[in-house]
Amino acid sequence: MIDPELRQLYQEVILDHGRSPRNCGKPDQFTCEAQGNNPMCGDRLTVYIDLADDGSIREAAFEGRGCAISMASASMMTEMLKGKSRAEAEALFRSFQALCTSDAAEAEDGADVDALERLQVLAGVRAFPVRVKCATLPWHTMQAAVSGQGGQEVTTEL
Ligand code: ZN
Repeated sequence: MIDPELRQLYQEVILDHGRSPRNCGKPDQFTCEAQGNNPMCGDRLTVYIDLADDGSIREAAFEGRGCAISMASASMMTEMLKGKSRAEAEALFRSFQALCTSDAAEAEDGADVDALERLQVLAGVRAFPVRVKCATLPWHTMQAAVSGQGGQEVTTEL
């Protein structure tokens, strides 16, 4: 059980990111992009990633429309990805995904524990399986972008 004060704080963080998303808009420079679509909820977004020569993520941004959860998740994700290697980004993604589906999830080796701590605010979706797709859509889309599947649209499965 999350105590009511913490729940209130979580909602405020989500609303704040949903209202004024960070890194929102198509950047001037990026090396890969992918589209994400969550038809269950109507969330649609494009994730832009600028990879440095060493394969690390120099910049991350997104644009799109969707519910507060999907927009907050995209906003927080783009803040966290900067400076991370692809392996670190993917470890964080898998750890976040685990967090969204199980309250006994443990962080993977290489996952940014501080970032994961901040992502706790979104993990309340685990009580609502349909909303898990909203929270993880930006991350699935990011993964498609960096792994060169940008030509395809990522659609969440039922
Ligand atoms: Zn949604």
